[in-house]
Amino acid sequence: MADKGLSVSRHPRTLGENRYVYAVLSRRAKGISVGINLNPDKICNFDCIYCQVDRTTPPEFQDVDESELLGELESVLTRAKEGSLYREPRFAAVPEALRRLSDISFAGDGEPTSYPRFREILASVAALKQRLELGGLKIALLTNGTLLDRPAVQEALDILDRSGGEIWAKLDAGTEEYYEKVCVPGGTRFAKILTNILEASRLRSVVIQSLFLAYEGAGPSAEEIDAYCRRLNEIVQGGGRIKLVQVYTVARRPAVSSVTPLSNSQVDAIAAEVRRATGLSAECYYGSSAWQE
Ligand code: SF4
Repeated sequence: MADKGLSVSRHPRTLGENRYVYAVLSRRAKGISVGINLNPDKICNFDCIYCQVDRTTPPEFQDVDESELLGELESVLTRAKEGSLYREPRFAAVPEALRRLSDISFAGDGEPTSYPRFREILASVAALKQRLELGGLKIALLTNGTLLDRPAVQEALDILDRSGGEIWAKLDAGTEEYYEKVCVPGGTRFAKILTNILEASRLRSVVIQSLFLAYEGAGPSAEEIDAYCRRLNEIVQGGGRIKLVQVYTVARRPAVSSVTPLSNSQVDAIAAEVRRATGLSAECYYGSSAWQE
């Protein structure tokens, strides 16, 4: 799942000649997040109206060459350890305190768990991290939750757990109607997403990522936010563990032009309601309309 809205605006998700591995300054992670794109074909099983993957142009390539991907990852991680990565022009203005590796994230131009060899590539990334003596570096899986019930994905999640990784599961709605409108999920019912998040969060603590936006000038209704908080409470009451709720909004140009960011105060208000109604920790990540300037 391409939850790239979390990272600062105006950064290309490319790094030199790399095809699969990129590095971005992440405001969420307060450091450099090394991203892995397992979906260069730009195919996703969602069609979120805020997605910033440009699907109006064909992909430059479609296949994942795993040895090339792992080579790119080793190079980026090594350069970060040595410090040479931060001398790239794009990171020149990054404050010293943020010149640190924050995580390796499976994100990209589609749903990472849809990659047929997700389990195998995750195992290879975990092993590489150990070999480079970066055992403490977190691996984050950004997912729309659709495929978390697949046995092979569950095996991958076991590997993620053993490597100290985290699931960051997307939940952008409280009702089926709003979910259909924002995520355009192409047949995956909202109930299935909720069940998948619940089952995954019974086995380990998860982070919930929730993007709220304005569509044709209107943000989500109070009723939608109420329903969203009820869904969070249902997960917890069902035995799920939610480590953190990340409330954020649009940070870069989305697929649908009538989608715009919420104001900072609107994001604050949603996070405050999450804290009040659920008792969960909630963090805010504000938007940007820089693309509209
Ligand atoms: S899950 Fe949504 S935001 Fe992520 S890549 Fe798919 S369409 Fe884009």
